[in-house]
Amino acid sequence: MTATAGSAGHLPPALRTEALEQLLTERGLIDPKAMNGLITTYETNIGPLNGAKVVARAWTDPEYRRRLLGDGTAAIRELGFGGFQGEHIVVVENTATTHNVVVCTLCSCYPWPVLGLPPSWYKDPAYRARVVREPRAVLSEMGLKLADDVRITVRDSTSEVRWLVLPERPSGTGHLTEEELVTLVTRDAMVGVAKVAAP
Ligand code: FE
Repeated sequence: MTATAGSAGHLPPALRTEALEQLLTERGLIDPKAMNGLITTYETNIGPLNGAKVVARAWTDPEYRRRLLGDGTAAIRELGFGGFQGEHIVVVENTATTHNVVVCTLCSCYPWPVLGLPPSWYKDPAYRARVVREPRAVLSEMGLKLADDVRITVRDSTSEVRWLVLPERPSGTGHLTEEELVTLVTRDAMVGVAKVAAP
């Protein structure tokens, strides 16, 4: 038996997705034009910049930060972001002593309206399995070395809840404007696998 033969279970994800899309289209369950529009929107128009704007606002406006940590979905919507895959976003704060890191152990749930589409490492079975068991080691391998006394909490996404990390504002950025702060915030920091570095 060759490696390419066999059931649909052996097809690469892209082919399986295409087959699924074709089936759903044939049955009249989805409109392929709407589907392509949705994908293009998330691939090209929506990305981590939205989340960076949320973070920079929270860093510069204590009242907004309070609302964001209290009801993430509502506070994010205040800035105009929301919708598909962002119906219920919970925001958790990283500090000098507590660190949150996000995973979806089941698949690849991710807050699309604020971060765009997930990076490939987020969907990697190795990341999904290992970050739960040994977060400190996984973070270290990804370049984030946390001191032993920093408490790490792994946030597992579900179909109900999508997590967004509010990273710690780097020291020495007190003079920066909100717009300047936006440019410092990275996707990885908002997933919790990196810190935001000072400029
Ligand atoms: Fe998932």
